[in-house]
Amino acid sequence: MRLRGQALWRSPAVAGDSPFSAPAPEWVAGDFEIREGHIYQVPATGSADVEGWIVPGLVDVHCHIGIKQGGFANPDEMLEQARINHRAGVLLVRDCGSPSDNSHVRDRADTVRLVRAGRHLAKPKRYIRGSALELVTDAQLPAVMLAQARAGDGWVKLVGDWIDRADGAESDLRPLWDGAALREGVAAVHEVGGRVTVHSFAHATIDALLDAGVDCIEHGTGMDSDQIRQAAAQGIAITPTLLQVALFDQFAAQAGDKFPVYRDHMLGLQARHEQVLADFLDAGVQLLPGTDAGGFQPHGLLPQELLRWRELGLSDAQILDLGSWRARDYLGFPSLSEGAMADLVVYASNPAADISVLARPIFTNLGVTG
Ligand SMILES: [Zn+2]
Repeated sequence: MRLRGQALWRSPAVAGDSPFSAPAPEWVAGDFEIREGHIYQVPATGSADVEGWIVPGLVDVHCHIGIKQGGFANPDEMLEQARINHRAGVLLVRDCGSPSDNSHVRDRADTVRLVRAGRHLAKPKRYIRGSALELVTDAQLPAVMLAQARAGDGWVKLVGDWIDRADGAESDLRPLWDGAALREGVAAVHEVGGRVTVHSFAHATIDALLDAGVDCIEHGTGMDSDQIRQAAAQGIAITPTLLQVALFDQFAAQAGDKFPVYRDHMLGLQARHEQVLADFLDAGVQLLPGTDAGGFQPHGLLPQELLRWRELGLSDAQILDLGSWRARDYLGFPSLSEGAMADLVVYASNPAADISVLARPIFTNLGVTG
């Protein structure tokens, strides 16, 4: 298989460097060959099978393979969810919580590379019914987090806050965990080389997450500018999920007059989101591409999520970097360089100049590890 065009390519001289010290990939023109799942630059001769702009596979770090609208996916449906992502150019997924084992979808030629986070951890009645492992006490948290880190691919997903419906009309988003349990749990996961990410909408949840040193925050809609600066200083990444925040008014409408405090809270978070996004950018926090596909978002919308990142004030070239090789670096996967696994997507025009072309890949390839 021969590709011709411009590839977003990491210089071979530094391919063995730590991803965090290696220079950024740059566009390199020429011919490239996929051989036994790996990619090589080759002299230009004869005709090419595909021509275009060659990009490291896109990443969705918040994608629930196993959850579908209104319920849970069976094994065949999970495979189809992975294929939908693949066809959208998403070749690497951190699953960010799934009610059942989805490992059968990984690494097939037409699916995705998968980093599993195991089950969501929550408390009874504090997440989508039936999908989380429900812990009755905070004291259980550290041991269960450690078990989940070992059961998946090292990532642990906590529900950090959720509506607490116990207070009638006063019900609101509230944190689930106490600070000491979080600290102990995160330390236990880090001890075995795992990482922790946390779903959080509410401001009240964040200080304890920063204090515990979690690795990543999903949504982060309640964060104030001091907390965002603190997250950046600690190297905590944030998945801003713009498509999901766009649904907050729908969540508020569903809560209606039964939960007016929660409703107003969600509307307030949505109203101030523009400022939160500006603060993310100001602080230089690492932003991760994620759709929250599963319950409310269909699978395969990562190109649309990235298109919305223009609202952050990022250039299309910056968005492409964040959605592809920077996110792969973050998850510990190589991008395109001499002899690397050929996880790539080809587009007819330059996505760094106009990111909207990401919705129309002309060729995708999942390479071979090792
Ligand atoms: Zn989610």
